[in-house]
Amino acid sequence: MIISATSPQVAIIGAGIAGLSCAAALQDAHCQVTLFDKSHGPAGRMSTRQGDGWQCDHGAQYFTARDPGFRAEVARWEQAGVAAQWRPEVRRFDADGTVSRCSATERFVGTPRMTAPATWLASTLELHADSAISALRREKSGWRLHAQDGEPLERHFDVVVLAVPAPQAARLLRDVAPRHAALAAGATMEGCWAMMLQYPAPLALGFDAAFVNRGALRWVARDSAKPGRVGSESWLLHASAEWSEAHIELDGASIAALLLPAFAQLGGPAPERWSAHRWRYAKAAQARDDVCIWDGGQAMGLCGDWLNGGTVEAAWLSGRALAQRICGA
Ligand SMILES: Cc1cc2nc3c(=O)[nH]c(=O)nc-3n(C[C@H](O)[C@H](O)[C@H](O)COP(=O)(O)OP(=O)(O)OC[C@H]3O[C@@H](n4cnc5c(N)ncnc54)[C@H](O)[C@@H]3O)c2cc1C
Repeated sequence: MIISATSPQVAIIGAGIAGLSCAAALQDAHCQVTLFDKSHGPAGRMSTRQGDGWQCDHGAQYFTARDPGFRAEVARWEQAGVAAQWRPEVRRFDADGTVSRCSATERFVGTPRMTAPATWLASTLELHADSAISALRREKSGWRLHAQDGEPLERHFDVVVLAVPAPQAARLLRDVAPRHAALAAGATMEGCWAMMLQYPAPLALGFDAAFVNRGALRWVARDSAKPGRVGSESWLLHASAEWSEAHIELDGASIAALLLPAFAQLGGPAPERWSAHRWRYAKAAQARDDVCIWDGGQAMGLCGDWLNGGTVEAAWLSGRALAQRICGA
């Protein structure tokens, strides 16, 4: 590491689970960390839509915890009451009409909503929400970040970390690190249409979630079946990446007209209310296996799910690995 300060100032752009994991590990290693996120709060794609008397996770649905380090982290989350195991009854609907029961896999969710682990992690970190970063500049005294309006922030930072999806990293890196920008630009991310459905009473479909290997849908889940949920019965539909990409520019009403009949084919009745969300960058088409990237010469690092396999667990591991690289571990 070229950073000479005993307590280096680190700017992390992106407060999804990768940025938060990196930030927490760096703070433990006595770095002074500042997170910036363009959204109202942390969590990124581990997100939940909330309305009057209802809620629904519309990004990540659950996470695995296979790596020992991540298992230990999830155990901390469980102890803090911000995550729990989810034991849904899962079906698989195949193209040939077969419906089968899926074997039990260990799945975790945030409680009482998917954003909870991120909110908990962020509570001990310095996070600037509603702070989109539009550009980076390397100056004599360190990294300078520019806000959405193009104005430079006052502070300089010794280290900058980009914990954002690949297309957003590519844009920020174009002028300062063309080689890394090209790598990020080469990581195609696919979209996903999500629909959140509300019902006045629980549906009796005989399953809580299903992998769907036919038609437009790929995953449906009864959000209300997850631990700690309150409010009215809500279901989540995710369309496949191929279907979503082919329909990415449609509006919500057109999407509903196509996806609700697909849900009806699985037994799902018309909802009382619905809303749709377009994820432009849901998952990397081919996830890389770099884990993270650390450029010591520039004092700049990249982390995020697109570098390590496209899951919550992979994103957390990516952030932690980058923190270790920055600290020279
Ligand atoms: C529809 C969908 C379903 C999924 N299902 C699952 C699943 O079931 N299981 C699973 O493990 N994973 C799932 N995933 C993937 C999982 O959500 C991601 O792998 C993980 O959350 C990525 O974390 P991250 O920190 O790398 O990125 P993100 O969560 O995307 O965080 C990046 C953050 O950067 C911020 N940002 C971007 N640009 C800027 C900028 N210029 N300035 C400031 N802030 C910026 C964003 O607001 C965001 O908060 C799913 C994702 C989607 C979208």
